[in-house]
Amino acid sequence: MLRQLLLLGLVPPLLAGCAGTPVVKALHNPLYRAENHTSTITVRATEPRDGIAEIRINAVVGELTACPTGVFSFPSLIPCRTSAMSVGAVCNFANVKTEVSCSLPIAITPRRLVTYSATARSGRNITSSAPAITYAGGAPLTQATVRLPFATITQPWETARPIIWRTDTPSLATDRGDKIDWGLVPDADMPTYRAFTDDLQPMVLALFYTDTNSFSQWTRFWRGLFNVWAGPAGADGEGCSRSFGGAASTVSAVFDGTQILHRNDFRDCASISLGGGSGTVQTNLGDATWVMLHEAGHFLFGLGDEYDGGGNASISTPKNVFPTKAACESASTSNSLPIAQCQQIGSTGTWRNDDGLATTMEDRTLTSDWRTLAGRAMSTRISRCASGACY
Ligand SMILES: [Zn+2]
Repeated sequence: MLRQLLLLGLVPPLLAGCAGTPVVKALHNPLYRAENHTSTITVRATEPRDGIAEIRINAVVGELTACPTGVFSFPSLIPCRTSAMSVGAVCNFANVKTEVSCSLPIAITPRRLVTYSATARSGRNITSSAPAITYAGGAPLTQATVRLPFATITQPWETARPIIWRTDTPSLATDRGDKIDWGLVPDADMPTYRAFTDDLQPMVLALFYTDTNSFSQWTRFWRGLFNVWAGPAGADGEGCSRSFGGAASTVSAVFDGTQILHRNDFRDCASISLGGGSGTVQTNLGDATWVMLHEAGHFLFGLGDEYDGGGNASISTPKNVFPTKAACESASTSNSLPIAQCQQIGSTGTWRNDDGLATTMEDRTLTSDWRTLAGRAMSTRISRCASGACY
């Protein structure tokens, strides 16, 4: 019940941890890389009253495959795992009351799929766990087997590559309906695939973990609702046109929205969508992570631009942009917002509820957040995820 209330945002986050219960956080680094490398899973735990006595990391490492298929059915785009092996680490501490950490290095060779979870135990034997995360590493799957009635053939095939896939169990048997699957793919202008994975790392880290500005507060608080995926090359963005070719096209079909990461200087843009949309983000901007989230406001959450010169239309619930003042006032009343805040967006003839503070669909500043009707629309999405169907 507490979890449900937390998901609905009805309980302040401080109540989530009880006195004496360890707070435990786990993340791997680098988040995703297609070359062989050493991946380090680091778990940090704190419990200031009784101290931390132990951190345990359990990981399952195996080969990433397309799932076994029946006759005439295609291989899967969400990966499966074979040849799974368990590895782990246990770190013991003398009931240390400040933050302690424990690491597990994993050698990443081609087509690795790793699931890890972690548990911390306090000096008073109270344990708590970090939820399981699955991620891929190493060169991807490039072909898969298709069984036909009288033959078995291999054909070119790629799966989505999880960067942060919130799996409840090592079996990967997780319903993704209660998660927002955010796909990232390289633009044709990325010099290499490695450049793409290097560029996504600080953006994903900031957006969900490390940034301290108000624009990212929402994604940091609700990060448990997001799966983040990498897809193969084949996409190309330029201005407001976006194309998806080859494996980038097939793989993107399993994402709730796909963002093309580019380095060339062109203005970012996105579809206004609720499922299956796409957008771009220029990774070498000083505020690239803010732009990443603003564009996601369009292609993952159906929000419109609240500034003059943008895409002033919305399909979110409630909408955040309206064709008439009356429609803005009606939605404002329904959502307990002052109708006096309904303002025209420049001279566009479209309207939004504006409380005068920086809002992420209007104001390009790190101090923005989701406000007024855009904030209500984000809460609607969370409620839908909590009921098992984000989209
Ligand atoms: Zn926009």
